[in-house]
Amino acid sequence: RDTINVLDIPVDRITMEDATRRISEFVNSSNYHMVFTPNPEIVMLARDNADFKAVMQRADLIVPDGIGVVLASKILQDALPERVAGYDLVQNTMKQAADKGYRYYFLGSKPGIAEQAAQKMRAKYPGIQIVGIRDGYFKEEDEPAIIEDINNSNANILLAALGAPKQELWIDKYREQLPNIRVAIGVGGSFDGMAE
Ligand code: UDP
Repeated sequence: RDTINVLDIPVDRITMEDATRRISEFVNSSNYHMVFTPNPEIVMLARDNADFKAVMQRADLIVPDGIGVVLASKILQDALPERVAGYDLVQNTMKQAADKGYRYYFLGSKPGIAEQAAQKMRAKYPGIQIVGIRDGYFKEEDEPAIIEDINNSNANILLAALGAPKQELWIDKYREQLPNIRVAIGVGGSFDGMAE
C-alpha cells in the first residue's frame, strides 16, 4: 500500500478508479478486507479513541471521504490525488456488481431505510444482488443472529452503515466470524442517501 499518515491514520494515495479496482481484487481474494472512508471529523475521533485508532490502522484500504482530508495531506506536503467519497465508491462498485458477481448485505440505518435503499439500487443497477438487509438499531444480544443471517445470505460485500466509530468497530469485531465476506465497508449515512 502507498499511504500517507494523517494524524496516525494511514490514508491510501489512490484515485477513485484504483480504489474501485482494489475492491474488485478484494472480492476475488480468499480473505476478509476492511475498507474505511473517514472524513476529518472521523480522523479527529480516532485521535482521541485508542481502540478506534487501532482498528483504523488495521484497515486494508482507507480512502479520504471529505476534501478536508485531502487538504490536510497537502499541508503535510504529501498530497493525496483526489477525494474518494465512500458513497461514490460504493456506487462505482454497484455499476459493476452484476458483471462481477458482487453480493451485498446492507446492515444499518433506521428500520425500513435499508430496504428502500435496496429497492432504489435494484432499479438503478439491474441484476445487482442485494442478498440480505438488516436495520442498524439492534442490541448486542441480537448480534449472533445477525452474523448468522449474513453468513446464510452468502454475501461477499458487507456495507455497514452504523455511523462512526460503531461501524468500524463492528466490522473489526466480527472479522473472524464472517467467512464469506471479502470486503466490509463502513458507509456512514449512505443508505439514507440511496433511499432518497
Ligand atoms: N445508525 C445505525 N445504528 C446506530 C446509529 C446510527 O444504524 O446505532 C445509522 C443512522 O441511521 C445513519 C447512519 O448510521 O443511517 C449514520 O449516519 P451518519 O451520517 O451520522 O454517519 P457518519 O458517516 O457521519 O459516521
